[in-house]
Amino acid sequence: MSTEIKKNEKPWKEGVAKSITFIVTKDCQLACKYCYLVGKNSNERMSFEVAKKAIDYILNNKEFFLEESVIFDFIGGEPFLEIDLIDKVCDYIKVQLFTLDHHWFNSYRFSFSTNGINYHDSKVQKFIEKNIDHLSIGITIDGTEKKHDLNRIYKNSYKGSYVDVVKNIPLWLKQFPTGGTKVTISSEDIPYICESVLHLYSLGIHEVSINVVYEDVWKENDDILFEYQLMQLADKIIENKYYLNYACSFFNENIGKPMDKEKENTNWCGAGRMLAIDAQGNYYPCTRFAAYSLRSKKPIIVGNIHDGINRNKLRPFLSLDRCTQSPSECIECDIASGCAWCQGENYDASSTGTIYQRSIAICKMHKARVRANNYYWNKLYRKLELEGIEVKDAYKFVKNTTEENC
Ligand code: SF4
Ligand code: SF4
Repeated sequence: MSTEIKKNEKPWKEGVAKSITFIVTKDCQLACKYCYLVGKNSNERMSFEVAKKAIDYILNNKEFFLEESVIFDFIGGEPFLEIDLIDKVCDYIKVQLFTLDHHWFNSYRFSFSTNGINYHDSKVQKFIEKNIDHLSIGITIDGTEKKHDLNRIYKNSYKGSYVDVVKNIPLWLKQFPTGGTKVTISSEDIPYICESVLHLYSLGIHEVSINVVYEDVWKENDDILFEYQLMQLADKIIENKYYLNYACSFFNENIGKPMDKEKENTNWCGAGRMLAIDAQGNYYPCTRFAAYSLRSKKPIIVGNIHDGINRNKLRPFLSLDRCTQSPSECIECDIASGCAWCQGENYDASSTGTIYQRSIAICKMHKARVRANNYYWNKLYRKLELEGIEVKDAYKFVKNTTEENC
């Protein structure tokens, strides 16, 4: 007898698609306590003219955009607050791809990460119906009502948003049955991890991607509590055989191994290979380098809709690798695989004001995760072995990759 363990699906065309992000608004109905966007406001909304100029530049300079596919990402704030603009922009993109006989014509996606509050809105639903074959939509829900409402609160009333989000989950799963959710963990959330993942499974969400925040928020003993929560979750997943149909990104056989200095020396973060555009028409290597994402550093602008991209400004991002930005303890680390970083947070937290200084605030949390991950796989394999079950398509250690995704 054999079995297959479910793992988190890779995003559409991962590694071969260009990612282009439109920051359509800096407004949001919520004021999540862990949100890294420090400069949210309701004034900076993208106009159609700015979006059109950016699209014209991108689609008419094919030599700079050679990737075989493209993902147009719309973010905020909350992107669906700007559904009229988004609908118009997407229509324009489709017409231009056809008119220009562009190589992305049949290989594009529109992607959204939404707080889910106005998902049922008739304009949003009309847009989904129109573009369903080219859409990826993720709704962010953090787990149980208590855990979700701990952080995801309305900006005006400070009331939790769980009730308004959860009512839209059935509709979303009907339209996107394989839809996954991203959960963000900071210090206060740790006690709720196990019950929250199980709650998301009970709502019918089969793929849960969880990340701890990269910021330096961790208190003493957070790593011990984190490990304990993950071990509890491991027990529940194994006991209830959730590993057959549900995935949780915390558990992955690829993490917690040493990495070869030469062969596994890539910069996993996509900053510089992607492009973000804001309401003023400025280009950034990723949204994390726009002013509204940065606590203490100046934005890094690499061009604009009038002058195009200054490729010299992209060069530092494209030449970065793991070793050029990591301290020696990370380069020599025995459990380095899966220990990720965010280039934007590295820059923001750096004392040098450069992108060459990796922040290692998550170090003890990664170590705790690896210990719990080892516990999970040992326990699961022992169980399956005792039951005489062979694991089909078990994860293989893949060189140069981590499963993390921002
Ligand atoms: S941050 Fe810590 S766990 Fe991660 S690679 Fe560096 S030393 Fe290893
Ligand atoms: S890890 Fe951070 S800097 Fe890199 S692509 Fe993601 S958000 Fe941008």
